Amino acid sequence: MTLVVEDLVKHFRTRDGIVRAVDGVSFTVERGQTLGLVGESGCGKSTTARMLVRLDQPTSGRILLDGEDVAFARGATLSKLRGRIQMVFQDPYASLDPRLTVGQTLGEVLTVRRMVDGDAQRRTRVNELLEMVGMTASVAGRYPHQLSGGQRQRVGIARALAVEPEVMVLDEPVSALDVSVRAEVMNLLTRLRDELGLTYVFISHDLGMVRHISDRIAVMYLGRVLEIGGWRALSDDPLHPYTRSLRDAVPVPDPELEAQRQVVELGGEVPDAINPPAGCLFHTRCPYVEDRCRVETPTLRELAPRHQVACHFSERLFPDVLAEAQQVSG
Ligand code: SF4
Repeated sequence: MTLVVEDLVKHFRTRDGIVRAVDGVSFTVERGQTLGLVGESGCGKSTTARMLVRLDQPTSGRILLDGEDVAFARGATLSKLRGRIQMVFQDPYASLDPRLTVGQTLGEVLTVRRMVDGDAQRRTRVNELLEMVGMTASVAGRYPHQLSGGQRQRVGIARALAVEPEVMVLDEPVSALDVSVRAEVMNLLTRLRDELGLTYVFISHDLGMVRHISDRIAVMYLGRVLEIGGWRALSDDPLHPYTRSLRDAVPVPDPELEAQRQVVELGGEVPDAINPPAGCLFHTRCPYVEDRCRVETPTLRELAPRHQVACHFSERLFPDVLAEAQQVSG
């Protein structure tokens, strides 16, 4: 199963004008792989996630699962496709019904999606799902408020797994959790992906977080992808000034290395999506801005194999990094 997203667009009409929440996003995720989708709040990554599972209807574009288009599917076709692509939300507490026990929550999904036949089969499957996410059958009788944040997110993951999806869209799945349990949930997600051959789109504001789980990373800004490439290149030696500022926001544990770093500081706020800047979307915050950037929009260009960057001057700004990227990938 390959997930292909082509020129995906979502525009919202508001009283103040049209918000270009997602403005032509394209990427491909191969079966069993993870694409990390990174950017600051308001960059369009969560809207992209909601379109992938059709909680939001795209304005235009295509979302292909093995060539079948999810973007504008309806009725029975949409229902079938929805079973193949599931979402795990950031806040597990808000996404679970407080009146239902864990067993009832999972059982309801199994019944509605006709995944089981009868009570006995449903109970067995609920227990299997709990085991898959590292919990015991005793959790089935508990309500969400009786669980810790990490346990609730495990239930959220089990609920997504209940319909046996091929793709999981994970929208900041550990951001709301205590730091101490984040690694456990990340390890669980990695194990499930590898054991079940799942394909992930992992959304986060934190480049340091996605590097551990991603095969490829796409960086979004004001509804567009500014850089996309392999996880190591994107998180260690990116070629776009914005990605470099995100990388530099991730602290380096070694104080000596931290002192030697040449840091690209990210100043200012993300501009208003109703009135995005002309030319390069990042020009109002870029430390390397030149006149051309204010008038001419850079397109994504493949500067190293499978590594695309939307900046006019990456070659001039980061020649050593580019030479290495071309060697490593080539
Ligand atoms: Fe900065 Fe110009 Fe490159 Fe945009 S095109 S990232 S403003 S140098």
